[in-house]
Amino acid sequence: MRSPYASDPAQSRGRRHPQSPAPTRTEFQRDRDRIVHSTAFRRLVYKTQVFLNHEGDLFRTRLTHSLEVAQLGRSMARTLGLDEDLVEAIALAHDLGHTPFGHAGQDALDACMAGHGGFEHNLQSLRVVDHLEERYPDFDGLNLCFETREGILKHCSRHNAELIEAQEPSFGDGQGGVGARFLRRAQPGLEAQLCNLADEIAYNAHDIDDGVRSGLIELAQVQQVPLFGRFSEQAARANVELVHKPRRWLYETVRLMLSSQIYDLMDSTQAAIALAAPADVQAVRNCPPLVQFSPAMQQETAQLKAFLFASLYRHPRVLETMDKARQVVGDLFAAYVNDPAAMQAGADASAPQAQTYRRVADYIAGMTDRFASREHQRLTGRVLLA
Ligand code: MG
Repeated sequence: MRSPYASDPAQSRGRRHPQSPAPTRTEFQRDRDRIVHSTAFRRLVYKTQVFLNHEGDLFRTRLTHSLEVAQLGRSMARTLGLDEDLVEAIALAHDLGHTPFGHAGQDALDACMAGHGGFEHNLQSLRVVDHLEERYPDFDGLNLCFETREGILKHCSRHNAELIEAQEPSFGDGQGGVGARFLRRAQPGLEAQLCNLADEIAYNAHDIDDGVRSGLIELAQVQQVPLFGRFSEQAARANVELVHKPRRWLYETVRLMLSSQIYDLMDSTQAAIALAAPADVQAVRNCPPLVQFSPAMQQETAQLKAFLFASLYRHPRVLETMDKARQVVGDLFAAYVNDPAAMQAGADASAPQAQTYRRVADYIAGMTDRFASREHQRLTGRVLLA
């Protein structure tokens, strides 16, 4: 049942280019479908965050990560009475703007774009759905609803928010566009808030799984982290055989940990909503963030994140690969700026010279890990990431 404070597809603030409603689907279902059929979505299968694509077939990619976020988000949305289709649309689109090679790729591209507007994956996700997808005769992008775009733009500096607002339509209600909330420090709808935390729950859990499976972290190491350790003991108490079956012990622990985070989030969020009692989605936007963990769970999740940061994301083997990735992106950027014609199909050769840097950034950001590696080899003759 839809809660009064949920986003209602029939009351959407609208699209950048007005379109008539679809006969059988809600506006948010339509957004979800547009995202699934987009080119950027298909590329997520060959983009990775922690482990690069060539390191193994079993590690999460941005695509499987996005599907896990959508699954967690949808199931929590149902309990909270939020719009499941909107949650799914935001979850599936939230990483569309990521560069190849995860955060190393993003940092390298941002460094290349210093003095030319910078590069930020969140803004890029919005840019993909607003401008870069070429699928419709009359407009650029996917022309998604305000509510979906609001969820995609998770963070934004004041400066970028002002730039975005300058291009937003009025939506006819004086509330501004997707940049406005960063200027008046308001919140997005609950579906967007939920996706944020579903993202965090998903990557903490799957990075433990991938980290242990890759051999970069030991099960015994993660068991030192209070949140994980508690459920690991609980799992072993319930089934003493598990200590001899490390793979199943790991999965059972992750499962218990996920459940406890989800139930904690449901309870804390329902309590926050009850206290703030927002009448509708517009009231939600003017409340403090309502989708939340309890303070205790918040703290335990932060400890887990800190562990993953120190032990996995900064593991020497990860850092070594990321170093090469940074070099690949830097080399590609220099090569294309020097010779924009070296960019293949998809890069608009007729665009004005002044936009060269942004075109190069868009082109590189759109690449999969393996395409970037191949292009690097083609342009430099060197093999850094095979
Ligand atoms: Mg994510």
